Amino acid sequence: MLSNLAARDVETLVHPYTNLATFRETGPLVLERGHGVWVYDTDGRPYLEGMAGLWCTALGYSNEELVAAATEQLSRLPFAHLFSGRSHDPAIELAEALKELMPVPTSKVFFTSSGSEANDTQVKLAWYMNNALGRPRKKKIIARQRGYHGVTVVTASMTGLPANHADWDLPLPGFLHTACPHHYRFAEPGETEEAFSSRLADELEALILREDPETVAAFVAEPVMGAGGAITPPAGYFAKVQAVLDRYDIRFIADEVICGFGRLGTWFGSEALDMRPDTISFAKAVTSGYMPLGGVSIDEPLYEALLAESRKLGTFGHGTTYSGHPVACAVALKTLEIYRRDRIVEGVAGKAPLFQARLAQLRGHPLVGEARGLGLIGGIEIVADRASKAQFDPKAGVAARCVAFAQAEGLIVRFLAGDRIAVCPPLVIQPDEIDTLFDRLARALDRTAAWIA
Ligand code: PLP
Repeated sequence: MLSNLAARDVETLVHPYTNLATFRETGPLVLERGHGVWVYDTDGRPYLEGMAGLWCTALGYSNEELVAAATEQLSRLPFAHLFSGRSHDPAIELAEALKELMPVPTSKVFFTSSGSEANDTQVKLAWYMNNALGRPRKKKIIARQRGYHGVTVVTASMTGLPANHADWDLPLPGFLHTACPHHYRFAEPGETEEAFSSRLADELEALILREDPETVAAFVAEPVMGAGGAITPPAGYFAKVQAVLDRYDIRFIADEVICGFGRLGTWFGSEALDMRPDTISFAKAVTSGYMPLGGVSIDEPLYEALLAESRKLGTFGHGTTYSGHPVACAVALKTLEIYRRDRIVEGVAGKAPLFQARLAQLRGHPLVGEARGLGLIGGIEIVADRASKAQFDPKAGVAARCVAFAQAEGLIVRFLAGDRIAVCPPLVIQPDEIDTLFDRLARALDRTAAWIA
């Protein structure tokens, strides 16, 4: 029997990324409040938030300083925009702070309200820049199978997941996908990580040559793939990909929406994985998820192209009402201040070995084919047979069942396509909470094994 709130939900809401048919029977998990790494449902039951919401609540819940920053800005200037040369101090200060932090040469910052809008902006800017540079054919975008970049028409086209394409009439023409760098699942028997990386770089180059390099504008990649399965790249991957991109003058967009701001124990994932992107998309942890904010870094050559277009067309014809919303910017500024002051990124680097060691222990479980991660991200693949890596029938919903058992154990984790489970707790998680998280996950896996048997 669904509770009153749950029943009202089912009658009123369409939920993102939800099986709307089975949801009518199961109903929602209705959360009411949070504290630290814990969230509480309407019955007061606590759950360890093993996903940091959606990979975003880096500083945990109930951070009073963030609440105060938002409240102060709400009372002082709740709205102001950046159109037509208008501005406000939180946006200026945040752009300055981000310029300093960015691991790529950054001339300016453009703000959005989400990761999707950030990546959508990246594509538009790559197109616009190439028009400014007199290369109107250089427009195709290469992403990766299982990459995740958002849900707008353009970013869903970049995303490499079947659920974002089937019956959505996507991807749009001009959006291509190269192979997913998942060594466990896609390497040939006996192929080393380096050899696998070389093969994928060769495949990328072959795709570019087939399409004609003069038509390829940009390549987009997450440092660690998130929604596509919490997949850590194989050794040498980005260096080899970079060499290919350099050969054909293809812009490299790093989608740091998940990895940005400390997740891998470095400020940006690009630093952890030796990536040299031209530009970075960010969102999520820039405000610790407390306010919707995203954005992109603008390098000097791109900025020069934008200037040229403004001289020609009279304006920079892009931006949304909430680009650089002052309350979101004020919260982001405070978030960055806390990251620096409390040495949050260094803290992640310090805790990551324990997190990864506890993750690695799951490799002993009879259902676990792979348990691999980086920093405070873990990806687990449930398999029917560890020797052959055979998967369960997707219709059996084994990972979904495991996630439901985890929830019953008081742990929130997320299942992804391919019977994968992601773990990505708030960056402020403490060592004893890391133990609690993995103890509960191990019990959920045991219960899943018993359910199958
Ligand atoms: N890029 C990555 C790597 C993401 O993980 C996400 C969301 O999870 C997005 C882009 C899209 O961000 P949003 O959901 O804020 O539009």
